[in-house]
Amino acid sequence: MSRYMKVARHSTSVPKNATIILALVFVFGLFTIGFDQGHLFSIVQGAEAFDSMYLHELSHDLRHAAGFPCH
Ligand SMILES: [Zn+2]
Repeated sequence: MSRYMKVARHSTSVPKNATIILALVFVFGLFTIGFDQGHLFSIVQGAEAFDSMYLHELSHDLRHAAGFPCH
Protein backbone atom coordinates (compact mmCIF):
# COMPACT_ATOMS: atom_id res chain seq x y z
CA MET A 1 0.00 0.00 0.00
CA SER A 2 1.44 3.30 -1.03
CA ARG A 3 0.55 6.65 0.28
CA TYR A 4 0.63 9.83 -1.71
CA MET A 5 0.77 13.11 -0.04
CA LYS A 6 0.02 16.30 -1.87
CA VAL A 7 1.56 19.44 -0.59
CA ALA A 8 0.09 22.67 -1.80
CA ARG A 9 1.88 25.88 -1.08
CA HIS A 10 0.27 29.18 -1.56
CA SER A 11 1.35 32.58 -0.55
CA THR A 12 -1.03 35.03 1.03
CA SER A 13 1.24 38.03 0.68
CA VAL A 14 0.85 40.65 -2.04
CA PRO A 15 3.84 41.05 -4.35
CA LYS A 16 5.76 44.25 -3.70
CA ASN A 17 5.96 45.14 -7.39
CA ALA A 18 2.17 45.02 -7.70
CA THR A 19 1.83 47.26 -4.66
CA ILE A 20 4.26 49.80 -6.10
CA ILE A 21 2.56 49.81 -9.52
CA LEU A 22 -0.91 50.22 -7.97
CA ALA A 23 0.38 53.05 -5.78
CA LEU A 24 1.78 54.84 -8.85
CA VAL A 25 -1.52 54.38 -10.72
CA PHE A 26 -3.35 55.77 -7.68
CA VAL A 27 -1.09 58.84 -7.44
CA PHE A 28 -1.41 59.52 -11.18
CA GLY A 29 -5.21 59.18 -11.00
CA LEU A 30 -5.41 61.38 -7.93
CA PHE A 31 -3.38 64.07 -9.68
CA THR A 32 -5.45 63.78 -12.86
CA ILE A 33 -8.80 64.00 -11.11
CA GLY A 34 -7.97 66.31 -8.26
CA PHE A 35 -5.23 68.72 -9.24
CA ASP A 36 -4.70 68.86 -13.00
CA GLN A 37 -5.35 72.31 -14.47
CA GLY A 38 -4.01 71.52 -17.92
CA HIS A 39 -0.59 70.31 -16.84
CA LEU A 40 -0.75 66.91 -18.55
CA PHE A 41 -1.97 68.20 -21.91
CA SER A 42 0.52 71.08 -21.80
CA ILE A 43 3.22 68.55 -22.64
CA VAL A 44 1.83 68.21 -26.17
CA GLN A 45 -0.50 71.21 -26.49
CA GLY A 46 1.65 73.91 -24.89
CA ALA A 47 0.37 76.89 -22.89
CA GLU A 48 -2.99 76.67 -24.64
CA ALA A 49 -3.82 73.62 -22.49
CA PHE A 50 -4.03 75.80 -19.37
CA ASP A 51 -6.86 77.79 -21.00
CA SER A 52 -8.85 74.79 -22.28
CA MET A 53 -8.34 72.49 -19.21
CA TYR A 54 -9.88 69.43 -20.90
CA LEU A 55 -9.23 67.01 -18.02
CA HIS A 56 -10.53 69.51 -15.48
CA GLU A 57 -13.76 69.97 -17.42
CA LEU A 58 -14.10 66.22 -17.95
CA SER A 59 -13.71 65.42 -14.26
CA HIS A 60 -15.40 68.55 -12.89
CA ASP A 61 -18.44 66.88 -11.31
CA LEU A 62 -16.34 64.02 -9.95
CA ARG A 63 -13.97 66.57 -8.48
CA HIS A 64 -16.82 68.29 -6.63
CA ALA A 65 -18.31 64.98 -5.49
CA ALA A 66 -14.95 63.95 -4.05
CA GLY A 67 -14.56 67.25 -2.22
CA PHE A 68 -11.67 68.73 -4.18
CA PRO A 69 -11.84 72.52 -4.40
CA CYS A 70 -11.65 73.97 -7.90
CA HIS A 71 -13.54 77.27 -7.94
ZN1 LIG B 1 -15.90 73.33 -9.90
